[in-house]
Amino acid sequence: MLKPENLCMAPWTHTYLSPQTERRLCCASREPAQSFTQYIDTAEGDNEYTPETLEEYWNGAGIRSIRKQMLNNEVPDACQVCDKKLLNQDVYRDYFTHLFNHKWDEVIPSTDADGYTTMKPVSWTIVLVIYVILNVVCVDLCLVVVGKQKLASKAK
Ligand code: SF4
Repeated sequence: MLKPENLCMAPWTHTYLSPQTERRLCCASREPAQSFTQYIDTAEGDNEYTPETLEEYWNGAGIRSIRKQMLNNEVPDACQVCDKKLLNQDVYRDYFTHLFNHKWDEVIPSTDADGYTTMKPVSWTIVLVIYVILNVVCVDLCLVVVGKQKLASKAK
């Protein structure tokens, strides 16, 4: 099978963690906020703070649906930033293709029809927010780390 044009390697190789502990496909994806209503300091919050673990996220319903869409050459709603080049012409999807195209051969054998994969994330975006001068200036640092990680295998 040839790699679908709209398939991005991120859902098979990468994970993103925001300062609010939201897990996302990457720093460009636009999934609905996961934990906003969980904030303990909002009226909408339920005073419970339960960040999702990487193990829970990596083969959760959301990302499995994304993988299925990409294997069908569909563009997930969360990936309009790349598809429509909303931020720049040199889109982040091309960056993941450049970094991880050599892993495409692993995608089909490792991915079930429901989007579950035995591949593991090998790169991470960790966003650090530094507040300066009594929160007047806020600097976001986006750090991408590529490496190896052992993620516990879980039965489906
Ligand atoms: S297509 Fe773009 S927004 Fe979607 S996961 Fe890949 S890099 Fe992120």
